[in-house]
Amino acid sequence: MATTFGTVFTPTMPVAEFSGDAYGSPRLQPTESLSLHPAAHVLHYGSACFEGLKAHRGVDGVVRTFRADRHVARMRGSAERLSLPAPPTELLAGMIVTAVRAHLDTVPDAPGALYIRPTLIGTEPNIGAAASPSAQGLLYVLTSPVGEYFAGGSEGLRIAVETGIPRTTPQFGEVKAGANYAMALGPTLRAQREQGAAQVLFATGGTISETGASNFLLLDEDRIITPEPNGAFLHGVTRLSVLELAGDRGWKVEERDVSVEELREWVAAGGECALSGTAAVLAGVGTLVFGDEEVAVTDGQVGPVTTRLREALRDIQLAKAPDEHGWLTEITC
Ligand SMILES: *Cc1c(COP(=O)(O)O)cnc(C)c1O
Repeated sequence: MATTFGTVFTPTMPVAEFSGDAYGSPRLQPTESLSLHPAAHVLHYGSACFEGLKAHRGVDGVVRTFRADRHVARMRGSAERLSLPAPPTELLAGMIVTAVRAHLDTVPDAPGALYIRPTLIGTEPNIGAAASPSAQGLLYVLTSPVGEYFAGGSEGLRIAVETGIPRTTPQFGEVKAGANYAMALGPTLRAQREQGAAQVLFATGGTISETGASNFLLLDEDRIITPEPNGAFLHGVTRLSVLELAGDRGWKVEERDVSVEELREWVAAGGECALSGTAAVLAGVGTLVFGDEEVAVTDGQVGPVTTRLREALRDIQLAKAPDEHGWLTEITC
């Protein structure tokens, strides 16, 4: 059904308004243009955050969301950091269920899924509110049937390593705020243009963090190494799930600083690297670009460990394998 990620939407979405700290009751309304005052806080002062999660259609035909509780908690944290009222857990969780339930028949079979995009914006019409939070806002949950994020087959991604410009500011790294993506765009476009890279791995000062919209992991048959959660990068639910899965299966999981030097040594020794995120699941890296130097990772192909762990996670999401951690929530009509 959907060919381009994120451009096809279901016809309705749950919407709740806030005024002050209080949210009103959600209503299902058409997925149509919003009416915003040109002075809306979000348009001037960036009061916007969002989430991204998926509902999958299992091999048994049943639709299930994946770790929605984690996404709800993260969105509450993002809202607080933007000085927007955190949506109550039951409200947001309920809106996610409503959004999926209203469009159950649009959830594609694997490898497609229904991508769910809760969004929170400040709408107070006040350009004098640069130093005050938006007193009004909107919370809505878009849903979009999607196919595979990276259509590429066995070839790994080409990733440029950026040690100068940071992705965002340290105090906003763990927040899913719209402004973070605007900040990462300049260096990402430059890397695309000048280095032919798909994405940038931000490694400010020589310590790796993550790419513009995915976490970064080093993997081999024995170990998974990835930065320890801190305020500077987004704590991905996929990242956490891969670490938990790998831990269950006997991998040694190391969450700690990884220098660019160590990354170079890792790939020189045949180690794999991958990006993790809801949209891409686990995407293997085939080439790292340092300035004008190119380094092949696992001969340019997606590595076997990356493929194995990706499949293990997919099998749980699609109810092919038991959901031992209780990550899935069935959505029925
Ligand atoms: C959303 C996002 C991720 C991935 O998070 P998941 O919960 O795994 O989808 C990683 N990095 C950034 C910057 C993100 O915005």
